Amino acid sequence: MTDQYVELVMEELGLMPLWVRPELVVTTPTKSAATSIEPAVPIAAPIVVAAPVPVILETPPRPSSPPPPARHIPASIAPPPVAVPQLLERDERAQRISALDWEALQAETTTCTACGLCKSRNKVVFGTGQPKTDWLVIGEAPGAEEDRQGKPFVGQAGKLLDNMLTAVGRSRQENVYILNTLKCRPPQNRNPQPDEMALCAPILHRQIELIQPKVIFAVGRFAVQALLGREATIASLRGKLHDYRGIPVVVSYHPAYLLRNLPDKIKAWHDLLLANKVLADHSPK
Ligand code: SF4
Repeated sequence: MTDQYVELVMEELGLMPLWVRPELVVTTPTKSAATSIEPAVPIAAPIVVAAPVPVILETPPRPSSPPPPARHIPASIAPPPVAVPQLLERDERAQRISALDWEALQAETTTCTACGLCKSRNKVVFGTGQPKTDWLVIGEAPGAEEDRQGKPFVGQAGKLLDNMLTAVGRSRQENVYILNTLKCRPPQNRNPQPDEMALCAPILHRQIELIQPKVIFAVGRFAVQALLGREATIASLRGKLHDYRGIPVVVSYHPAYLLRNLPDKIKAWHDLLLANKVLADHSPK
């Protein structure tokens, strides 16, 4: 990838002027991994990350730990109460899904009727890209165009995501896998319901387990809820590392949000650099 090409991509992202103007450089947090990331550099220079630095993982309870008491789950993201027979059925389904290979999981998902979204969807959006990759992007739920095409991140938000990834030498054609937390579109793009997210979660978890990424780039609050079980603003979570079953998670803004809030693109750029740095630190030297 030539410097000139990268410059073109950065111009497309609207980032080029932002890091050459000192007054717009974002102040990094004082006690997070982001403090150790190199400040934005002129685009002509290669994206080089400084020497390895200690990173602080915000670690939620691991799967092997006993589940936290229900009172620790914010009411707004906790699924509604479910009858015991239904719970058993769900548990059986989750166990069955956790043993599927990639092709079987894809087949299971494309015919899934576990939640009510199956009635209104056109196409299930399983994911796109290279399943054997170290970089996984997780979004929220399909929109209208994704529902039509059966692919995640298409349209303007998808184009922006592709440009962002290109800026750090990544693409869905070569070395990224992209998927959504929820595989079917909520009608009128309403927010996913807790029960829908709970029923789709086994598919998401199995996808991650099979892909085995070295870093997860989670965009949007529903992706964060599904991975970290936390309801917090993206602003409060970004700039530091989180943990999903031992995999570092970098939280950032959803590209659809960035299209409406252009000044936050520079923050998303720093998030991409953080993810790149995590990958560099975890790669064999
Ligand atoms: S959203 Fe998930 S759980 Fe619901 S029908 Fe689609 S694939 Fe199944």
